[in-house]
Amino acid sequence: MAGTAAPFLARALAPVPAPARSALPRRAHRMDRRAVGRVAACIVLASLARPARALLMLDAPRALTGSRHHAFYEQLRQSLAVLAESPQPHVRQLLAAVAAAPAAVTFRPVTDDPATWASDGDRERGHTQPVDGRPKNEGRTRPTGADVYLPPWSVDMRTPRWHDGLLVHELVHALDLTTGHYHPDVRVRERRAVFMQNLWRDSTGTPLHGSYHGEFPTLDYQEAKREGRIEEYAAYVFHRSDFPHTPANGPDPRGQESR
Ligand SMILES: [Zn+2]
Repeated sequence: MAGTAAPFLARALAPVPAPARSALPRRAHRMDRRAVGRVAACIVLASLARPARALLMLDAPRALTGSRHHAFYEQLRQSLAVLAESPQPHVRQLLAAVAAAPAAVTFRPVTDDPATWASDGDRERGHTQPVDGRPKNEGRTRPTGADVYLPPWSVDMRTPRWHDGLLVHELVHALDLTTGHYHPDVRVRERRAVFMQNLWRDSTGTPLHGSYHGEFPTLDYQEAKREGRIEEYAAYVFHRSDFPHTPANGPDPRGQESR
């Protein structure tokens, strides 16, 4: 499979060159608490960066050539680099978790080819497909590769629509598949994805989504923020396949946008 591990993660994890031990004054050989903390952090990050588990494919596959595809993957890498440096820690955690998951994630632009379109034929919608080709409503309890299809605007930071946070949304679906936390109920999957999307939108001052395309409410982030439960909800995204039972599960969509 063509592709490389996330280069920005590799850069972040690269060891900082240190002077030779003999060149250091004697007392510098003793590690202070901050240095111990840095070493511990490096060990944790290095475990995430083991080549066998770094399966985020950020290059164009050989079949996709041409300047448009080149631009898409360049913009994708730039967008992911922005997420990797987000002031919102759960957004950074999402990216690290996807990069560390035990199954591969590939990205594809939505193009003129109907094979890249969402099932409803809407070329403006992103979607994430399990590579095993089996129905989504079976759920997945084992790590499964994910193909993420993105309309070009969703990775182009020059367009206002980039602020929709579709990339964050689809990364949640990719995480759920690659960690075997893919719930069979589409509402649960979408509530989890919109929760993280709204978390990012809130951090960028973008109005929040109150429903999933008007089909059902997605007020989990608003509710978690109001009740001081964001950490609890985020833990569901990172460690489980379900989501809290809350009033946000109500059957009536309550508007497209709310804060
Ligand atoms: Zn979705």
